[in-house]
Amino acid sequence: MEAKTLKKNQSPEKLEDFHCVVCGKPLQSTSEATECSFCGKTEKADYVCEEGHYICESCRLASPETLVRKVCGATKETDPMKVVLLLMKHPALQMHGPEHHYIVSCALLAAWRNLGRFEINDSAFDEAIRRGRKVLLASCGLWGVCGAAAGVGIALSIATKANMQSDKERTLSMEAVSESLHMIAKIGGPRCCKASTFSAIQKATEILEREFNIRHLSLIDPRPCYFRSHNKECLGNKCPYFEANNLG
Ligand SMILES: [Zn+2]
Ligand SMILES: [Zn+2]
Repeated sequence: MEAKTLKKNQSPEKLEDFHCVVCGKPLQSTSEATECSFCGKTEKADYVCEEGHYICESCRLASPETLVRKVCGATKETDPMKVVLLLMKHPALQMHGPEHHYIVSCALLAAWRNLGRFEINDSAFDEAIRRGRKVLLASCGLWGVCGAAAGVGIALSIATKANMQSDKERTLSMEAVSESLHMIAKIGGPRCCKASTFSAIQKATEILEREFNIRHLSLIDPRPCYFRSHNKECLGNKCPYFEANNLG
């Protein structure tokens, strides 16, 4: 079911036509104070779903960059997979598109900050978006560098303050991109920005555990893929995220 969202000042005549962006269930009217499922702000809500999900007007109308900046800056989540899953459900994010390059970096930076690792301040998200937006749409096929893999390198470079003069920090960022890229390349094509995002988050978490000795990082399992029915070019069973029991 395609989730239709309510636009500014819109009062739907048939509320049952509108569904929750987060879980797909029908919306109902309310006037209770409710927390926005995206940015965490509590305010008097207009419509919620039966699971209690609410999206504030500012998040409903946000551009991809504004949304990613708001959500990653505010979240208390330590699981970056949960963060990208939420962001990718928002209608402002296309099925495939260059915003997937910086949602990987921003979700990783948010989770690492909430885990108390690295010195990550609010400007890190702006910087990740600034760098990520330079990665070309379709760079996977045109450069041989998927932007989701580049996003892992961007997150690690920001977290470790790497630059071209650095020694081991620079090496680590490049190795992280290389490992992420290898995992994404193995899926095959045509490209799927959702599968690439899942792989990038999975590989980044493995690298963080290995290189920084951080244990017990938990990721929710994105299988079966929530987006598979929305993707006209879905790889089906060829994709490791298609079914619940596919091997990732
Ligand atoms: Zn819901
Ligand atoms: Zn909000």
